[in-house]
Amino acid sequence: MPVNDAIRHDWAREEILALLKRPFNDLMFQAQSVHRRVFDANSVQISTLLSIKTGACPEDCAYCPQSARYDTGLNVERLLPLEQVLQAATRAKAAGATRFCMGAAWKNPRDKDLDRVIKMVEAVNALGLETCVTAGMLKRDQAQRLASAGLDFYNHNLDTSPEFYGEIITTRTYADRLDTLQHVREAGLHVCCGGILGMGESRADRAGLLQALCNLPQHPDSVPINMLVRVKGTPLADAASLDPFEFVRCIAAARILMPKAMVRLSAGRAEMSDEMQALCFLAGANSIFYGEQLLTTDNPGQQADRALFQRLGIQAMADECPRQRATSSRGNTRRHRPTSGRPSR
Ligand code: SF4
Repeated sequence: MPVNDAIRHDWAREEILALLKRPFNDLMFQAQSVHRRVFDANSVQISTLLSIKTGACPEDCAYCPQSARYDTGLNVERLLPLEQVLQAATRAKAAGATRFCMGAAWKNPRDKDLDRVIKMVEAVNALGLETCVTAGMLKRDQAQRLASAGLDFYNHNLDTSPEFYGEIITTRTYADRLDTLQHVREAGLHVCCGGILGMGESRADRAGLLQALCNLPQHPDSVPINMLVRVKGTPLADAASLDPFEFVRCIAAARILMPKAMVRLSAGRAEMSDEMQALCFLAGANSIFYGEQLLTTDNPGQQADRALFQRLGIQAMADECPRQRATSSRGNTRRHRPTSGRPSR
């Protein structure tokens, strides 16, 4: 199969399935070749994720311990005070993070909630960190308010293929998600959008998720690929585990399909071996979440990550701001950011 880095938005499901079926070594070579043409192959961006409002979510996402519908023993927390968020962001920066992501378990934020989130965004930006928020569905004007406040990224995942989606979530539609992504894009925010593997979906569904992502009008700037964390009390607590090689194949396919996106190895790392994570980096993953907690589930400790980076000769991507690279080098996804009044970094 010829290596072709052209940015495309017209991938057919069969083409993606053909990628996923390639001999493993060929697929890895292709993904690594694409990766090296765009990125430093030995740099990985580090993000830190803080749950700023935990649990009691009215949605029914079958994988999520934060849904109010499942008894997972989670401690519900209201929206954190600004000071607490700022302290966590300061610690994250000191530990080497360049992006601070704030997650709130809402179906959608009320305007008065958004006022408080905007204050958090402004304060974290002032520390010199990139900011990302995930807070459910957004209306157009809410996305614009976040953009005007200087937010860099908004995360809203597609989770899985359109066909399998109804098995996982019934309280919001795929179209709802696409609408939010459109509002985020049109507001000039960078889009963070990915999905979860290992929820009982088929390979065709995994190809369908990747197809939905790479055929968006602009490729997401960040593509988090999560391995399901099976949490007791959720409907997916006993889901069969996914073959680790299949997960790595999907990372490689994401790299090939979206050459300029940051592909983030997200949830599920705590259950991955060092060797599997190394294969994910080889397949083109170039971003991780750092810190012992990922919203409400475990993540490898910072020491373990530092040791792994050292063993692999990986540097934390610190000098080059992904936001600047994204806006300066991608002809296909150039966008306008509204003036925020925030000093550039
Ligand atoms: S994934 Fe998000 S929307 Fe779904 S239940 Fe969890 S917090 Fe709510």
